[in-house]
Amino acid sequence: MMKQTDEIIEKYRKAGRILSEVRTEAVMKVKEGVSLLSVAEFTENLIQEKGGKPAFPVNISRNDEAAHSTPCFNDSSVFGKDIVKLDIGVHIDGYIADTAVTVDLSDHPELVKAAEKALSDVIKFVHSGVNTSDIGGVIEDAITSFGYKPVVNLTGHGLAQYIQHAPPAIPNKRLPHGIILEEGDIVAIEPFATDGAGKIYDAGSAEIYHFVANKPVRLPSARTLLQKIETYKTLPFAKRWLGDHVDFAMLALVKANIIQPYPILKEVDAGLISQAEHTIMVTADGCEVITR
Ligand code: MN
Ligand code: MN
Repeated sequence: MMKQTDEIIEKYRKAGRILSEVRTEAVMKVKEGVSLLSVAEFTENLIQEKGGKPAFPVNISRNDEAAHSTPCFNDSSVFGKDIVKLDIGVHIDGYIADTAVTVDLSDHPELVKAAEKALSDVIKFVHSGVNTSDIGGVIEDAITSFGYKPVVNLTGHGLAQYIQHAPPAIPNKRLPHGIILEEGDIVAIEPFATDGAGKIYDAGSAEIYHFVANKPVRLPSARTLLQKIETYKTLPFAKRWLGDHVDFAMLALVKANIIQPYPILKEVDAGLISQAEHTIMVTADGCEVITR
């Protein structure tokens, strides 16, 4: 990967500092009976009050949902005795910090610890020259030591300007081959642990989308919507950010392949899932945790 300039590194650090403060406050809002929409809006507003922008809609994924769940417009759902994954991103000029934490209202402390231990083990293990396959091994070993399985078809990832999922993929299990991380590489490490089979599938429905390519579209309401969508550049956005009654225009944009959905991801055995995530910068002898 490309070496980052000092100016760029400072933007990642600023995004990370904002995100760390926001995460602490967001976690405190997650309680039984509280609406998911209120937590999402609180979190996204706080990011902007602190001088950042949401890098993607706040993901609030519960129980067997691993990722890509976010409230819809006028969503009325509330937290129950759920295992809740809050996944939050902040960007400064497109430079993204990405973090996730599990808030457990379901009394599965060991499942939460499995993902957290995997992440802290990787943070101790990483340095310039490390192989991504060995990072996967550290994650797999930590999670299986708790008697759980890593979710193997979800990965950590690189980050690039306005691109949330850049190469390299960081596996959550040991693989035969990997790539070598170098000093200055900025990557998100995100172990997922489950009491299910350890795999997720696309559950179909989507509230999160991203822009793919500009193409002609005839429908005037779709053209108007596209102007708003283009302000998010290539970053993921929530349908609820575009207001009410946008289904018809959204469908036209999806059919024209101008935007694509991120379907909700669920565990194949309906297993419960925990997640932990930090964005780190690889250094010569370790790493700097950007989202500490
Ligand atoms: Mn994330
Ligand atoms: Mn991520």
